[in-house]
Amino acid sequence: MNSSALNRPAESLDVDHEWDNPYLLLTPGPLSTSPTVRTAMLRDWCTWDEDYNFGIVTPIREKLAALAAPSEPEAYTCTLMQGSGTFSAESMIGSAVPADGKLLVLANGAYGNRLAQIASSLKIDHLVHDSGELAPPDVPRLDQTLRDDSAITHVICVHNETTTGMMNPLAEIASVVKGHRKTFLVDSMSAFGGVPLDLATLGIDFLVSSANKCIQGVPGFGFILSTREAIGKTEGNARSLSLDLFAQWKMLEEGGGKWRFTSPTHTVRAFHQALLELEEEGGIAVRHARYSENHRVLVEGMTTLGFRCLLTPELQSPIITAFHNPENPDFSFLRFYQDLKERGFVIYPGKVTGINAFRIGTIGHVFPADFDRLISAIKASMFWR
Ligand SMILES: *Cc1c(COP(=O)(O)O)cnc(C)c1O
Repeated sequence: MNSSALNRPAESLDVDHEWDNPYLLLTPGPLSTSPTVRTAMLRDWCTWDEDYNFGIVTPIREKLAALAAPSEPEAYTCTLMQGSGTFSAESMIGSAVPADGKLLVLANGAYGNRLAQIASSLKIDHLVHDSGELAPPDVPRLDQTLRDDSAITHVICVHNETTTGMMNPLAEIASVVKGHRKTFLVDSMSAFGGVPLDLATLGIDFLVSSANKCIQGVPGFGFILSTREAIGKTEGNARSLSLDLFAQWKMLEEGGGKWRFTSPTHTVRAFHQALLELEEEGGIAVRHARYSENHRVLVEGMTTLGFRCLLTPELQSPIITAFHNPENPDFSFLRFYQDLKERGFVIYPGKVTGINAFRIGTIGHVFPADFDRLISAIKASMFWR
């Protein structure tokens, strides 16, 4: 956009041309959003009256609680929090675990490790069970540890470990944690909204996700779903002023949708639109079916070209898929990436220690036909053979 365009009012801009996306984001967030979600950001909102608080923020909180706990939505509540997903994870951990609490972290990738890092930074007493990046959490070991160490009050795990695309066995973990009557926290950042789930039947006390993943909004805030009972007990626990989950929840509840500090109004408006589009699509189960079909088309095409998946199908989620680098000793991810970007697709580097792999996300406003086109683009590229 040149500087004269910047001086013109928005109405006179050539909208279609300026805002056409040159490529699809096949990444785990930010991801490709619909044109209608992006267009929802094109007006300014004041934050102190009913239009925003009552018309946008409160419905978002209610819709998210209903999506999270369809069997018992009234027992759950939703707190929106400024920042990227990690800010919300930090808010959740720092507020849920009291000063005399102890947290057990189940880690099998970079995001599980980040949860442990948050506990370290906040000086929370904690223990890490690291099962390695290629194995799911060790459930019998979890059971034994909860039997042996009665100081543990809280357990946290990642739902879909975005490092590899591994879907962790949430129901099995939940059943052990609940059997020991511990508080259960989940980082479902990259799965919530794309994978059917009922917090009430699983017995999840707190779950965190963010705007720019499977709900298909744009970045700027995260949200914490919790039972009203569990969040009601967290007053005074927070290790931070701005990330105080209880204080944020109380303000949203008592202020009828009011945030404590400046809220990302445009992002929130886009998210509201994204939730309407999730409903129009048919809800989480239908979205999950689309993501699964995206994933199936991707894997079938990549396999035909000779690529190998990092994970076995039983462990693999439909969210993001890691592929081993091709055998070619001259393979450069960067050149391959750049070529695909010019062809209209942005893929994602690998993140597993000691293994040369790359990742392709299948979430967002992307469809099976897009993955057919991606496979044709890879077939046409010379940068991996
Ligand atoms: C995306 C993601 C996060 C949050 O990352 P941010 O960059 O802070 O938004 C946390 N956990 C998982 C599993 C994720 O996929």
